[in-house]
Amino acid sequence: MTSEHMPSVGFIGLGIMGRPMARNLLRAGYRVVVADVVAEPVDTLVAEGAGRGTTPRDVAERTDLLITMLPDSPEVEAVYAGADGALEAARPGWLAIDMSSISPRVARELAERAAAAGAGMLDAPVSGGDKGAIAGTLSIMVGGTEDDFARALPVLQALGKTIVHVGPSGAGQVAKVCNQVVVGVVIEAVSEALVLGAKAGVDPARIVEVLQGGLASTKVLEMRKDNILGGRFDPGFRVRLHLKDLKNALELAREAGVVLPATAGVEQLMQRMRIAGRGDFDHSGLVTVLEDLAEIRVCDAAGRATG
Ligand code: NAD
Repeated sequence: MTSEHMPSVGFIGLGIMGRPMARNLLRAGYRVVVADVVAEPVDTLVAEGAGRGTTPRDVAERTDLLITMLPDSPEVEAVYAGADGALEAARPGWLAIDMSSISPRVARELAERAAAAGAGMLDAPVSGGDKGAIAGTLSIMVGGTEDDFARALPVLQALGKTIVHVGPSGAGQVAKVCNQVVVGVVIEAVSEALVLGAKAGVDPARIVEVLQGGLASTKVLEMRKDNILGGRFDPGFRVRLHLKDLKNALELAREAGVVLPATAGVEQLMQRMRIAGRGDFDHSGLVTVLEDLAEIRVCDAAGRATG
Protein backbone atom coordinates (compact mmCIF):
# COMPACT_ATOMS: atom_id res chain seq x y z
CA MET A 1 0.00 0.00 0.00
CA THR A 2 1.33 3.47 -0.81
CA SER A 3 1.32 6.19 1.82
CA GLU A 4 -1.40 8.03 -0.20
CA HIS A 5 -3.86 5.27 0.74
CA MET A 6 -2.75 4.95 4.32
CA PRO A 7 -4.32 7.03 7.11
CA SER A 8 -2.08 9.58 8.79
CA VAL A 9 -1.49 8.67 12.43
CA GLY A 10 -1.11 10.89 15.50
CA PHE A 11 0.84 9.36 18.39
CA ILE A 12 0.81 10.81 21.92
CA GLY A 13 2.87 9.26 24.74
CA LEU A 14 6.40 8.29 23.69
CA GLY A 15 7.65 6.38 26.74
CA ILE A 16 9.08 2.87 27.05
CA MET A 17 6.24 1.50 24.90
CA GLY A 18 5.09 4.43 22.77
CA ARG A 19 8.47 5.36 21.34
CA PRO A 20 9.19 2.00 19.64
CA MET A 21 5.53 1.70 18.58
CA ALA A 22 5.61 5.10 16.84
CA ARG A 23 8.89 4.07 15.24
CA ASN A 24 7.28 0.88 13.86
CA LEU A 25 4.50 2.95 12.28
CA LEU A 26 7.11 5.17 10.58
CA ARG A 27 8.90 2.05 9.32
CA ALA A 28 5.61 0.68 7.97
CA GLY A 29 5.29 3.84 5.86
CA TYR A 30 2.68 5.80 7.82
CA ARG A 31 2.87 9.57 8.12
CA VAL A 32 3.08 10.06 11.88
CA VAL A 33 2.69 13.22 14.02
CA VAL A 34 4.00 12.80 17.59
CA ALA A 35 3.65 14.59 20.93
CA ASP A 36 4.65 14.08 24.56
CA VAL A 37 4.99 16.33 27.61
CA VAL A 38 8.72 15.47 27.56
CA ALA A 39 10.69 17.03 24.67
CA GLU A 40 13.45 14.44 24.23
CA PRO A 41 11.47 11.54 22.71
CA VAL A 42 9.62 13.98 20.44
CA ASP A 43 12.95 15.34 19.14
CA THR A 44 14.18 11.77 18.56
CA LEU A 45 11.11 10.71 16.56
CA VAL A 46 11.09 13.97 14.58
CA ALA A 47 14.73 13.30 13.63
CA GLU A 48 13.55 9.88 12.38
CA GLY A 49 10.88 11.40 10.12
CA ALA A 50 7.81 12.12 12.28
CA GLY A 51 5.98 15.44 12.32
CA ARG A 52 6.07 17.51 15.53
CA GLY A 53 2.72 17.97 17.24
CA THR A 54 1.89 20.46 19.96
CA THR A 55 -1.38 19.98 21.87
CA PRO A 56 -3.51 16.81 21.63
CA ARG A 57 -6.04 18.90 19.69
CA ASP A 58 -3.34 19.93 17.20
CA VAL A 59 -2.26 16.30 16.68
CA ALA A 60 -5.88 15.16 16.26
CA GLU A 61 -6.68 17.93 13.76
CA ARG A 62 -3.70 17.03 11.59
CA THR A 63 -4.24 13.26 11.42
CA ASP A 64 -6.96 10.70 10.53
CA LEU A 65 -6.32 8.40 13.44
CA LEU A 66 -4.91 9.05 16.91
CA ILE A 67 -3.04 6.51 19.05
CA THR A 68 -2.33 7.23 22.72
CA MET A 69 0.09 5.31 24.96
CA LEU A 70 -0.06 7.08 28.33
CA PRO A 71 0.49 5.97 31.94
CA ASP A 72 -3.02 5.91 33.49
CA SER A 73 -6.63 7.11 33.40
CA PRO A 74 -5.96 10.72 34.54
CA GLU A 75 -3.42 11.31 31.74
CA VAL A 76 -5.74 9.73 29.17
CA GLU A 77 -8.66 11.88 30.37
CA ALA A 78 -6.44 14.99 30.19
CA VAL A 79 -5.24 14.22 26.66
CA TYR A 80 -8.74 13.54 25.30
CA ALA A 81 -11.04 15.70 27.40
CA GLY A 82 -8.79 18.37 28.98
CA ALA A 83 -8.07 21.86 27.64
CA ASP A 84 -7.02 21.61 23.97
CA GLY A 85 -7.87 17.92 24.20
CA ALA A 86 -8.06 15.56 21.25
CA LEU A 87 -11.86 15.20 21.45
CA GLU A 88 -12.19 18.89 20.52
CA ALA A 89 -11.11 17.76 17.04
CA ALA A 90 -13.31 14.63 16.99
CA ARG A 91 -15.32 14.45 13.76
CA PRO A 92 -17.06 11.85 11.61
CA GLY A 93 -14.43 9.56 10.08
CA TRP A 94 -11.85 10.28 12.79
CA LEU A 95 -10.75 7.34 14.94
CA ALA A 96 -8.98 7.26 18.31
CA ILE A 97 -7.23 4.18 19.66
CA ASP A 98 -6.17 4.35 23.29
CA MET A 99 -3.56 1.65 23.85
CA SER A 100 -2.75 2.65 27.46
CA SER A 101 -3.87 0.33 30.28
CA ILE A 102 -6.61 2.25 32.11
CA SER A 103 -9.90 1.82 33.95
CA PRO A 104 -12.56 0.13 31.74
CA ARG A 105 -15.08 2.68 33.06
CA VAL A 106 -12.99 5.64 31.84
CA ALA A 107 -12.49 3.91 28.46
CA ARG A 108 -16.27 3.56 28.03
CA GLU A 109 -16.94 7.17 29.07
CA LEU A 110 -14.42 8.56 26.56
CA ALA A 111 -15.76 6.34 23.75
CA GLU A 112 -19.26 7.69 24.43
CA ARG A 113 -17.97 11.26 24.14
CA ALA A 114 -16.19 10.45 20.86
CA ALA A 115 -19.39 8.82 19.52
CA ALA A 116 -21.38 11.97 20.42
CA ALA A 117 -19.11 13.86 17.99
CA GLY A 118 -19.62 11.22 15.30
CA ALA A 119 -16.12 9.77 15.79
CA GLY A 120 -14.92 6.29 16.71
CA MET A 121 -12.84 5.24 19.70
CA LEU A 122 -11.33 1.89 20.59
CA ASP A 123 -9.64 0.72 23.77
CA ALA A 124 -6.70 -1.44 22.69
CA PRO A 125 -4.30 -2.16 25.58
CA VAL A 126 -1.38 -4.47 24.98
CA SER A 127 0.79 -7.12 26.54
CA GLY A 128 4.25 -8.21 25.46
CA GLY A 129 6.28 -5.50 27.15
CA ASP A 130 9.02 -3.30 25.76
CA LYS A 131 10.48 -6.26 23.84
CA GLY A 132 7.14 -6.83 22.07
CA ALA A 133 6.81 -3.11 21.36
CA ILE A 134 10.26 -2.99 19.76
CA ALA A 135 9.73 -6.18 17.74
CA GLY A 136 6.18 -5.22 16.69
CA THR A 137 4.84 -8.45 18.18
CA LEU A 138 2.50 -7.13 20.89
CA SER A 139 -0.73 -8.87 21.87
CA ILE A 140 -3.48 -6.32 21.44
CA MET A 141 -6.90 -6.67 23.10
CA VAL A 142 -9.48 -4.45 21.47
CA GLY A 143 -12.83 -3.13 22.71
CA GLY A 144 -15.20 -1.21 20.42
CA THR A 145 -17.42 -1.61 17.36
CA GLU A 146 -16.76 -4.08 14.52
CA ASP A 147 -16.47 -1.22 12.00
CA ASP A 148 -13.90 0.70 14.03
CA PHE A 149 -11.95 -2.51 14.66
CA ALA A 150 -11.85 -3.24 10.91
CA ARG A 151 -10.56 0.29 10.20
CA ALA A 152 -7.90 0.05 12.89
CA LEU A 153 -6.66 -3.44 12.03
CA PRO A 154 -4.08 -2.56 9.32
CA VAL A 155 -2.48 0.02 11.64
CA LEU A 156 -2.52 -2.36 14.61
CA GLN A 157 -0.84 -5.01 12.44
CA ALA A 158 2.23 -2.75 12.28
CA LEU A 159 2.41 -2.93 16.09
CA GLY A 160 1.34 -6.41 17.09
CA LYS A 161 0.96 -10.03 16.13
CA THR A 162 -1.99 -11.31 18.15
CA ILE A 163 -4.84 -8.83 17.69
CA VAL A 164 -8.18 -9.85 19.19
CA HIS A 165 -11.48 -7.97 19.11
CA VAL A 166 -12.67 -9.03 22.55
CA GLY A 167 -15.99 -7.15 22.68
CA PRO A 168 -17.66 -3.74 22.90
CA SER A 169 -16.13 -0.57 24.32
CA GLY A 170 -14.24 -1.25 27.58
CA ALA A 171 -13.84 -4.98 26.89
CA GLY A 172 -10.21 -4.56 25.86
CA GLN A 173 -9.43 -2.93 29.21
CA VAL A 174 -11.29 -5.70 31.06
CA ALA A 175 -9.11 -8.30 29.27
CA LYS A 176 -5.98 -6.30 30.15
CA VAL A 177 -6.95 -6.12 33.82
CA CYS A 178 -7.39 -9.93 33.76
CA ASN A 179 -3.94 -10.24 32.16
CA GLN A 180 -2.37 -8.12 34.90
CA VAL A 181 -4.06 -10.14 37.65
CA VAL A 182 -2.43 -13.30 36.25
CA VAL A 183 1.01 -11.73 35.78
CA GLY A 184 1.02 -10.10 39.24
CA VAL A 185 -0.09 -13.21 41.09
CA VAL A 186 2.37 -15.42 39.18
CA ILE A 187 5.28 -13.07 39.93
CA GLU A 188 4.33 -13.27 43.60
CA ALA A 189 4.06 -17.08 43.44
CA VAL A 190 7.46 -17.59 41.81
CA SER A 191 8.97 -15.09 44.25
CA GLU A 192 7.60 -17.03 47.22
CA ALA A 193 8.89 -20.31 45.74
CA LEU A 194 12.41 -19.03 45.06
CA VAL A 195 12.77 -17.30 48.44
CA LEU A 196 11.61 -20.52 50.09
CA GLY A 197 14.04 -22.66 48.07
CA ALA A 198 16.95 -20.31 48.68
CA LYS A 199 16.35 -20.09 52.43
CA ALA A 200 16.01 -23.90 52.56
CA GLY A 201 19.51 -24.13 51.06
CA VAL A 202 18.83 -25.11 47.43
CA ASP A 203 20.27 -23.20 44.45
CA PRO A 204 17.34 -21.18 43.04
CA ALA A 205 18.87 -21.37 39.55
CA ARG A 206 18.48 -25.16 39.70
CA ILE A 207 14.92 -24.80 40.97
CA VAL A 208 14.06 -22.55 38.02
CA GLU A 209 15.65 -25.01 35.59
CA VAL A 210 13.57 -27.94 36.80
CA LEU A 211 10.33 -25.98 37.30
CA GLN A 212 10.44 -24.81 33.70
CA GLY A 213 10.19 -28.42 32.50
CA GLY A 214 6.89 -29.18 34.22
CA LEU A 215 3.42 -27.93 35.13
CA ALA A 216 4.88 -25.04 37.15
CA SER A 217 6.63 -23.64 34.07
CA THR A 218 5.63 -20.08 33.29
CA LYS A 219 6.35 -17.35 30.78
CA VAL A 220 6.96 -15.02 33.75
CA LEU A 221 10.01 -17.07 34.82
CA GLU A 222 11.16 -17.51 31.22
CA MET A 223 11.18 -13.73 30.72
CA ARG A 224 12.19 -12.58 34.21
CA LYS A 225 14.46 -15.28 35.63
CA ASP A 226 17.59 -13.26 34.84
CA ASN A 227 16.19 -10.33 36.85
CA ILE A 228 15.25 -12.45 39.86
CA LEU A 229 18.35 -14.68 39.90
CA GLY A 230 20.65 -11.75 39.13
CA GLY A 231 19.06 -9.25 41.53
CA ARG A 232 18.76 -6.62 38.76
CA PHE A 233 15.46 -4.83 38.35
CA ASP A 234 15.77 -2.14 35.66
CA PRO A 235 12.37 -1.76 33.94
CA GLY A 236 10.87 -3.38 31.81
CA PHE A 237 7.52 -2.86 33.37
CA ARG A 238 7.54 -0.50 36.33
CA VAL A 239 6.02 -1.53 39.67
CA ARG A 240 4.07 1.75 39.83
CA LEU A 241 2.33 0.87 36.54
CA HIS A 242 1.48 -2.64 37.69
CA LEU A 243 0.16 -1.18 40.95
CA LYS A 244 -2.12 1.06 38.86
CA ASP A 245 -3.36 -2.00 36.91
CA LEU A 246 -4.16 -3.85 40.15
CA LYS A 247 -5.98 -0.76 41.44
CA ASN A 248 -8.08 -0.95 38.24
CA ALA A 249 -8.60 -4.70 38.83
CA LEU A 250 -9.84 -4.13 42.38
CA GLU A 251 -12.11 -1.27 41.22
CA LEU A 252 -13.57 -3.54 38.52
CA ALA A 253 -13.98 -6.35 41.05
CA ARG A 254 -15.99 -4.04 43.34
CA GLU A 255 -18.20 -2.93 40.42
CA ALA A 256 -18.69 -6.50 39.18
CA GLY A 257 -19.21 -8.04 42.64
CA VAL A 258 -16.12 -10.28 42.62
CA VAL A 259 -13.65 -11.12 45.42
CA LEU A 260 -9.93 -11.11 44.45
CA PRO A 261 -7.98 -12.10 47.60
CA ALA A 262 -4.65 -12.94 45.93
CA THR A 263 -4.73 -9.78 43.78
CA ALA A 264 -5.45 -7.67 46.87
CA GLY A 265 -2.41 -9.21 48.62
CA VAL A 266 -0.12 -8.57 45.65
CA GLU A 267 -1.40 -4.98 45.46
CA GLN A 268 -0.35 -4.48 49.09
CA LEU A 269 3.12 -5.94 48.45
CA MET A 270 3.56 -3.62 45.45
CA GLN A 271 2.37 -0.76 47.65
CA ARG A 272 5.16 -1.71 50.06
CA MET A 273 7.65 -1.49 47.17
CA ARG A 274 6.52 2.01 46.33
CA ILE A 275 6.85 3.08 49.98
CA ALA A 276 10.37 1.60 50.00
CA GLY A 277 11.34 3.73 46.97
CA ARG A 278 11.18 0.80 44.54
CA GLY A 279 8.25 2.02 42.42
CA ASP A 280 10.47 2.30 39.35
CA PHE A 281 11.88 -1.22 39.71
CA ASP A 282 10.75 -3.79 37.16
CA HIS A 283 7.72 -5.64 38.58
CA SER A 284 9.84 -8.79 38.99
CA GLY A 285 11.50 -6.80 41.80
CA LEU A 286 8.49 -7.82 43.91
CA VAL A 287 10.78 -10.63 45.04
CA THR A 288 12.75 -8.06 47.08
CA VAL A 289 9.81 -7.56 49.48
CA LEU A 290 9.63 -11.30 50.18
CA GLU A 291 13.44 -11.39 50.46
CA ASP A 292 13.27 -8.63 53.08
CA LEU A 293 10.68 -10.57 55.08
CA ALA A 294 12.78 -13.78 54.95
CA GLU A 295 16.10 -11.96 55.38
CA ILE A 296 17.74 -13.63 52.40
CA ARG A 297 18.65 -12.61 48.83
CA VAL A 298 17.78 -15.07 46.06
CA CYS A 299 20.63 -13.66 43.95
CA ASP A 300 23.15 -14.42 46.73
CA ALA A 301 21.96 -18.04 46.81
CA ALA A 302 21.78 -18.44 43.00
CA GLY A 303 24.59 -20.37 41.37
CA ARG A 304 25.95 -21.75 44.66
CA ALA A 305 26.85 -25.43 44.53
CA THR A 306 24.13 -27.49 46.16
CA GLY A 307 26.19 -30.64 46.62
P1 NAD B 1 6.08 5.43 30.37
O1 NAD B 1 5.86 6.10 31.68
O2 NAD B 1 7.43 4.99 29.97
O3 NAD B 1 5.53 6.38 29.16
C1 NAD B 1 4.41 7.24 29.26
C2 NAD B 1 4.66 8.45 28.37
O4 NAD B 1 3.51 9.31 28.42
C3 NAD B 1 5.85 9.30 28.85
O5 NAD B 1 6.72 9.58 27.77
C4 NAD B 1 5.19 10.57 29.40
O6 NAD B 1 6.01 11.72 29.28
C5 NAD B 1 3.96 10.66 28.52
N1 NAD B 1 2.89 11.48 29.08
C6 NAD B 1 2.40 11.46 30.36
N2 NAD B 1 1.41 12.35 30.49
C7 NAD B 1 1.26 12.94 29.27
C8 NAD B 1 0.38 13.94 28.75
N3 NAD B 1 -0.57 14.52 29.53
N4 NAD B 1 0.50 14.31 27.45
C9 NAD B 1 1.45 13.74 26.66
N5 NAD B 1 2.31 12.78 27.09
C10 NAD B 1 2.21 12.40 28.37
O7 NAD B 1 5.04 4.22 30.35
P2 NAD B 1 5.08 2.91 29.39
O8 NAD B 1 5.84 1.84 30.08
O9 NAD B 1 5.39 3.31 28.01
O10 NAD B 1 3.53 2.46 29.51
C11 NAD B 1 2.49 3.14 28.83
C12 NAD B 1 1.19 2.37 29.04
O11 NAD B 1 1.35 1.03 28.52
C13 NAD B 1 0.80 2.21 30.52
O12 NAD B 1 -0.60 2.28 30.66
C14 NAD B 1 1.31 0.82 30.86
O13 NAD B 1 0.58 0.24 31.92
C15 NAD B 1 1.09 0.09 29.54
N6 NAD B 1 1.96 -1.07 29.31
C16 NAD B 1 3.31 -0.99 29.56
C17 NAD B 1 4.11 -2.12 29.34
C18 NAD B 1 5.60 -2.10 29.63
O14 NAD B 1 6.21 -3.19 29.62
N7 NAD B 1 6.21 -0.96 29.86
C19 NAD B 1 3.54 -3.30 28.86
C20 NAD B 1 2.18 -3.34 28.58
C21 NAD B 1 1.40 -2.20 28.81
